[in-house]
Amino acid sequence: MELERLQRTVIQCRKCPRLVAYLQEVPQHKPRRYRDWDYWSKPLPSFGDPHARVLIVGLAPAAQGGNRTGRMFTGDRSGEWLFNALYQFGFANQPNSLWRDDGFKLDDCYITATIRCAPPKNKPLPEEIENCRPYFLKELDLLKKVQVIVPLGQIAFAQTLKSLRQKGVEIPPLSFGHGKIYSLRTPNSVGNADLSSLRTLITTYHPSQQNTQTGKLTRPMFHRIFRTIEKKLEL
Ligand code: SF4
Repeated sequence: MELERLQRTVIQCRKCPRLVAYLQEVPQHKPRRYRDWDYWSKPLPSFGDPHARVLIVGLAPAAQGGNRTGRMFTGDRSGEWLFNALYQFGFANQPNSLWRDDGFKLDDCYITATIRCAPPKNKPLPEEIENCRPYFLKELDLLKKVQVIVPLGQIAFAQTLKSLRQKGVEIPPLSFGHGKIYSLRTPNSVGNADLSSLRTLITTYHPSQQNTQTGKLTRPMFHRIFRTIEKKLEL
């Protein structure tokens, strides 16, 4: 199917020379706890339920997390938070995932990212974000049932808005914060995209270690986001 074909293309992508070089470098400096791991070190495909009503947009894979295991958020601290919340609210079949063949499955949810290669210091360059944008735009075309979109953190929020605007969705300037709910008015057909189901954008702080360890994002705050998602979903 087309979504799977797209992800196979992503895995082979080499558009960003700085990131391609960095991915080769990362396994040469493995922390001791991962010394037996054979790192994925390629672009990461998005994954989840192709009929999902919820689309989660991360920032970028973590060098020692998804970039090691080969699946977004799998085996990293942000993933622990995200997968746990997804499980609590019925969008995943197990509360965590540490490697990509451990049977973890998403239901009614799809996970993608602003860029698909781990960047040095978690900071992608603007041109790298632009290089990767066409994959996200294509996913918006292919994920026809998405009703609620949830970018994780401010950068993913800004880039999601930019992508939606490129698809022709009229969105006024919106501010970022935790737990903001924005209604999206999408025409039945925008260009080539079928965004007719998309209704709501919900903002959240990223469940990064920096945010969760400092208490900027707590479990109740994160779970509130998922309660809102549940409320916003229509059959
Ligand atoms: S970040 Fe995206 S565009 Fe750049 S090399 Fe990786 S997959 Fe390709």
